[in-house]
This record gives sequence, structure tokens and C-alpha cells, in this order.
Amino acid sequence: MRAHREKDVQKKIRIEGYMENIEKTVKDEQREGGDRMWGMIATWRMAAEGVEKGAGMLKAGGDAGDAIETAIREVEDFPYYKSVGYGGLPNEEMEVELDAAYMDGDTLDIGAVAAIKDYANPVSVARRLSRENVNCVLVAEGAEKFAHKEGFERKNMLTDRAKAFYRKRVQQDRAEELKPYAGHDTVGMVCLDQAGKMTAATSTSGLFMKKKGRVGDSPIAGSGFYADSKVGGASATGLGEDLMKGCISYEVVRLMKEGLHPQEACEKAVERLDAELKARRGAAGDLSLVAMDREGRWGAATNIQGFSLAVVTEAEELTVYLAKRQEDGHCTFEKASKEWMDDYMRTRMAPVE
Ligand code: ASP
Repeated sequence: MRAHREKDVQKKIRIEGYMENIEKTVKDEQREGGDRMWGMIATWRMAAEGVEKGAGMLKAGGDAGDAIETAIREVEDFPYYKSVGYGGLPNEEMEVELDAAYMDGDTLDIGAVAAIKDYANPVSVARRLSRENVNCVLVAEGAEKFAHKEGFERKNMLTDRAKAFYRKRVQQDRAEELKPYAGHDTVGMVCLDQAGKMTAATSTSGLFMKKKGRVGDSPIAGSGFYADSKVGGASATGLGEDLMKGCISYEVVRLMKEGLHPQEACEKAVERLDAELKARRGAAGDLSLVAMDREGRWGAATNIQGFSLAVVTEAEELTVYLAKRQEDGHCTFEKASKEWMDDYMRTRMAPVE
């Protein structure tokens, strides 16, 4: 009798354990906010073609790491974007030094390269580095040596067009303060795949005419990017030296973790840092942010006029928005018109005068 009862109890425990496991698996698969949500958000209109490619992969059930890398490589390869990859504008010694990063929000793996020269796709080198346990962030010759050893494509990233911009700039007043380019700066992305994995990545040539060896926020975890699949991810663009002062991408993820919608989190982070910098230093550089949470909800905020972004989710077709900061610090979004999009490409590809 007693033996029977014990067997029953054990069976009950086994069944309960089994049911719990099934429930957990089902919950894991149907994350809050909808079944199989996926999405991608990126800084600047220039990201749109890459985001479109990445979205195709996500829609087909692809991995957030593969999708974000593919999307950023597309921007790196396009010769007419002056601030990312091939065709990026050089430093004051007329060398194209690139910064890039990759973060896996499941494992929190981070990889980054800074001031790397002569490699076609810095984001891929960064992703490869993210799989290492140590030496995940490499600069200059160290990064190039690693890329060479791993067989990444070498390429002279300085185009004739970039040289022409350089020469033109040298003729201008060199004392002029360095500024990020309004309208075509760092590409920073956040991605969510159907399995709930999130990634963040960046790629940039940084500021035109920067000092040799200057590193911006883009390869710095927490400043230029951050992703945590349990919460969401964020990426920044603007004046790296100021974005770093607020570890702004981490701050957005932290605010989302406290329960804020990505839009509120972005606005709060930008407004606070902007106010702090103005109060303590008398001025704030350009600060712009994009973010997405694990449910595929997104947000963006900026302290400049003219910040554009590209976003796509399972529920929203690929759209380029122009963000407008209102007096009260809130941002409104306007879909970019066909004229705006055409004009953008026309100016990007116009001959250098
Ligand atoms: N944040 C980049 C940097 O400071 C530049 C940019 O986003 O335009 O290197």
C-alpha cells in the first residue's frame, strides 16, 4: 500500500515537473507582447537599405546577429555615405580610421574595434571579437593584425571622393570646431529576432578631421550601444565626447528595465544629459538615440533638428521617420516624404564642388 502511495506521489511530481517545463517552453516561445515579434531600428536614413535586407532575414526566422551584421555591412559598403565604412571621411592625416561594435543581448558578449584602417567591414571584425573571452576590444594595429589573422577582407577605404572633401576642408578655416555631420553620421542599430534574441551594433568613421587615434562613443559599450535581450537595446549618434559623458545607451536600457516605454526612456535620457551638460559646461553636443524593447516597441529622441531613423517590425513596414524635438522635450515623428528621400540621395551623390 505504502509503496503504491509513494509511487503515486513520485508520478505526480514527475507530471507536475513536466507540465511546468511545457508551460515554460510555451512562455519562452510566446514572449509577452505577441507571438514571434521581430524588428529593427537604426540611426539615420542611410541605414534603410541595410535594414530592409536585415528585415527579410528576420521575417524568415533569421538570427538577430546575422541580420544586424548584414544590415550594417550594407551601409559600410556604400561609397557615398561619408561617415561609415568605404568612402568615410578621413582624419586630419588623411587616413580613414574606423570604429565599430557588436553586442549580443543574450550572452552580453561585446566586441569592438577602434581606429582600424584598411578593412572593408569593421562590424564583422567586431562581431568576431565578441566571441572571444578576453581581448574583445582592439584598437589600430592590434585590430588590423587580428582582422588579418582571421582572414577579413582588406580594402583601401579612402576614396577619391573622400580625398576631395579633405582637400576642400583643408582650404577652409582649420580652426573651425569639429562637428558630427548632420544627416549622415554613425550607423547604430538594434535588432530583435523571432526567438527573442536582441543585438546592437555600430559602425562609423567618426568625426571628419579628427585627430589620429581619436575614439568616439560608437565602439564604447554603454555609450554608443547596449543590448540586453531581457529588456531591450539602444544605440546613439552625435558628438561622441558628449554621448560618453552620460553612458547614454546603457542609461536608456536601464530606464526601460525600470518599466519605461522605449520612447519615454529615450526622451528622458536625452533631455537629462542635454540639461546636465548645459548646466555644468554651458553647452551640449548633438545627442540622438534609437531604442527597441524585447516586445518590439521602439523609441527615438534627439536634441537636434534633422535626425532621421529607419524602423521596421513585424507589425510595421520599413519606414524612414524624421524626428522633431518639441519645446517640452518630447519627440514627434513624421514619415519622410518621397521628395525628402530623393533629395537625400541626390545630395549624397552630388559631385564635390
Ligand atoms: N558618434 C560618432 C563619434 O563621435 C559620430 C556620429 O555619430 O556622427 O564618433
